[in-house]
Amino acid sequence: MAAGRHDAVVVGAGPVGLCFAVLLADRGLDVAVLEARPQRGRHTRAIGVHPPGLRVLERAGVADRVAAAGVPISEGAARARDSGATRTVARIGFRPPVLAVPQWATEQALEDRLAELAPGALRRGVRAVRAEREEGGAVVRCEDGDQVAGRWVVAADGARSPLRAGLGIPVRTHALPDAYLMGDFADATGDGARAVLHLEAAGIVESFPLPGGVRRWVAHVPEPALDPSARDLARIVGERTGVRPDPSTCTMLSAFTVTERLAARLRSGRVLLAGDAAHEVSPIGGQGMNLGWLDAEAFVPLIAAGTGGQWDELWAAAEAERLRAARFAARQARVNMALGRELPAGIMAARNAAFRALYRVPWLAERTAARFTMQG
Ligand SMILES: Cc1cc2nc3c(=O)[nH]c(=O)nc-3n(C[C@H](O)[C@H](O)[C@H](O)COP(=O)(O)OP(=O)(O)OC[C@H]3O[C@@H](n4cnc5c(N)ncnc54)[C@H](O)[C@@H]3O)c2cc1C
Repeated sequence: MAAGRHDAVVVGAGPVGLCFAVLLADRGLDVAVLEARPQRGRHTRAIGVHPPGLRVLERAGVADRVAAAGVPISEGAARARDSGATRTVARIGFRPPVLAVPQWATEQALEDRLAELAPGALRRGVRAVRAEREEGGAVVRCEDGDQVAGRWVVAADGARSPLRAGLGIPVRTHALPDAYLMGDFADATGDGARAVLHLEAAGIVESFPLPGGVRRWVAHVPEPALDPSARDLARIVGERTGVRPDPSTCTMLSAFTVTERLAARLRSGRVLLAGDAAHEVSPIGGQGMNLGWLDAEAFVPLIAAGTGGQWDELWAAAEAERLRAARFAARQARVNMALGRELPAGIMAARNAAFRALYRVPWLAERTAARFTMQG
């Protein structure tokens, strides 16, 4: 290492930046993590940890802690209302299960692990402005005038990635026409650890278990909600599914629209884009965070290996594979979203009847489960 130069500087202590940092530190590399926020947010976006993501967390030494903070979902059910009665359209088993864990708990587990492996590596309240390539590495320039140099810089600074913008890497941005309302409520459904999709003509309603007797509800809505309330979401859920969450128990409410952003390439010299900075896919299907962890699984061994040998070929192959995985995830998410859009009641009923017949075929149910859990 050149004087004052880290092996790697990771920008962003979200789930992906932290995962990179832990895996790098675990290999004995000297890593610094720069995070703009002075404190971790408690607002939960990602909850779904799929089996391939859990494999990476195992490698990072945090799978047990993350599992202990979550609920294993081993079954998903699709339901629909038909002449006032709710009927099961399909039932799908998830083996191994998907874990539902609040994002802050996953990040906390990774941050704790990083503190064990590399005490003091995480520097909060440091906003990176840009990364500049230099001989044998790159340097991160910070808002406070500081500069932090690394043999590698990993830009895991989220979907709007200021670092990516400064590198001039083109990004394909696509705004999708979908809007959602999401909230966490006390779970009075009796569904326990089951994930449930309500395939309704007015738009899909999804619900997922969370630890502590909480259930997350997500409803497709006709247009972005400007001033949403827990009461609005509870009403929409109640009208479509017949199950009305209690608005007074709401602990989180969020309205979101969907934008897809895919970077044209993942590397500029020794600066690597990772996680949402490289590929933002729709949250519907819950793949973005897992996709970023799989980036870490692919790239950390290459960063640790240094140059020489078939360096260029290995990097090119890994980059092509991760770009392909991102495009695949984006397509999967679009299918998930299309399934949730509003449809005339007659067409929805016919579609649900077709699903009911199709998902009695075991291999099709298994294949769908594999797709939903990033294993197919
Ligand atoms: C509603 C919703 C539900 C979702 N559910 C799931 C799910 O169930 N499963 C799943 O896999 N994915 C899910 N996702 C996607 C997931 O949240 C993201 O893919 C994931 O958070 C990306 O992680 P990241 O570390 O790349 O970026 P972020 O989580 O965005 O973290 C980036 C970090 O960089 C920091 N930062 C930004 N700029 C700078 C700077 N200039 N200097 C220093 N630090 C900076 C930020 O403060 C932040 O801490 C969901 C997303 C949404 C919106």
